[in-house]
Amino acid sequence: MTVVTRFAPSPTGFLHIGGARTALFNRLFAKHHGGRYLLRIEDTDKKRSTQEAIDAIYDALSWLGLECDGDPVSQSARRDRHAEIAQQLIDSGHAYRCYASPEELKEMRKQQKAAGQPMRYDGRWRDRDPSDAPAGIDPVIRLRAPQDGETVVEDIVQGQVTVANTQLDDMILLRSDGSPTYMLSVVVDDHDMGITHVLRGDDHLTNAFRQIQIFKALDWDAPIYGHVPLIHGPDGAKLSKRHGALGAEAYRDMGFLPEALRNYLLRLGWGHGDDEIISDEQAIEWFDGSGLGKAPARFDTAKLTALNTHYLKAADNARLVELITPGIEALAETPVDDIAGSRLAAGMESLKERAKTLVDLTESGALYAHQRPLKLEAKAEKILSDEAKSVLAAAQKALMELEPWTAESLETWARDYTEANGLKLGQLAQPLRAAVTGSNVSPPIFEVIAIFGRDETVSRIEDITKKA
Ligand code: GLU
Repeated sequence: MTVVTRFAPSPTGFLHIGGARTALFNRLFAKHHGGRYLLRIEDTDKKRSTQEAIDAIYDALSWLGLECDGDPVSQSARRDRHAEIAQQLIDSGHAYRCYASPEELKEMRKQQKAAGQPMRYDGRWRDRDPSDAPAGIDPVIRLRAPQDGETVVEDIVQGQVTVANTQLDDMILLRSDGSPTYMLSVVVDDHDMGITHVLRGDDHLTNAFRQIQIFKALDWDAPIYGHVPLIHGPDGAKLSKRHGALGAEAYRDMGFLPEALRNYLLRLGWGHGDDEIISDEQAIEWFDGSGLGKAPARFDTAKLTALNTHYLKAADNARLVELITPGIEALAETPVDDIAGSRLAAGMESLKERAKTLVDLTESGALYAHQRPLKLEAKAEKILSDEAKSVLAAAQKALMELEPWTAESLETWARDYTEANGLKLGQLAQPLRAAVTGSNVSPPIFEVIAIFGRDETVSRIEDITKKA
């Protein structure tokens, strides 16, 4: 049997972080088994589904590297097929038309409530002769659900979960306007797409009972389900807006790398011993459906940040330059030309050592894009006192002759030079930093000026020393 999984988001907003985890789990499970991972857009609720949300989901999945195999399926495009199956269920005696009016059902519920009974459809059209059908009422189609026995979900995560069939009423499959319900659409689509395994949030566990009943009525095999506990916030409550960002794309904007978020989401509700840093290859090798926890995992931004710090260090420098270039251009208000780009690339190794996110990296890397004359930050301005300027002016002459122009030789020179002139290293290094970067903080300054080169460094010093 080829394993086929799917991710089936409803496009009513951004890609929720929980949805991203569901997509990841399904993808890994399929890849582990050498199978396929499909995407189905559950866009039957036309009022709430938007093209914008569909695009946002594609965009976020592609950023996260969770693209599906084959073309995505649109659930709404399969409406006729869903209706066909509803009719098939009527023909086989597993479903029937119900002509109860909304007012009648409201009254039924009112009476059930007053009698302290559970509010469920009472099956009033289940055995009635269709010739009793009142004129002018468009019927719904309901499943003739089993009334005794039980429905069992053998769940990969939750274990065996059982519900008495008396607890489930005859659910609607097709509404009176002919539109299929979610339950019917999901079953028909999962069957037609050949889905063998479904990993999804445990908010769908109760739906699984109903879906299994439909599968049985159709004499189709239900997929194997695994209902994963929802993600909670650090306070233990279900993740919600008040915990901060909920959309996967917000984590991109906060400067997280997709591989860091993938690794983080993987560990959220699944474990492989004590392993924290897990590569994509290892994840595929290990993700066989075991190791999924029953307790809800708590989202912890500090842990995600720690992983991101790790992945930033491991990332290819040229890729990082490309990722932060648009941000630097916005920040420095100047295009990153070839010269700035190669300086940034040369400085990346030490920039990324100090960054937790791409936002940090953008801010610290911007120094290589700023053009002369520099706008000095207030703290840099303060460092550049008259005394500091004269230290710079004197040092500048020595710098003109220094060979070779490398970070090591610059540092050795600065140490010797300050010692010989009765200065502390900081009395030279700080003004140099302020003059060359316009700031009081930067990566190691001798590395920075090595990267800028002699001409640019001397010009920047002159910009300061020649200013009245
Ligand atoms: N469309 C459903 C949702 O976004 C998921 C349905 C399913 O996975 O069966 O919650």
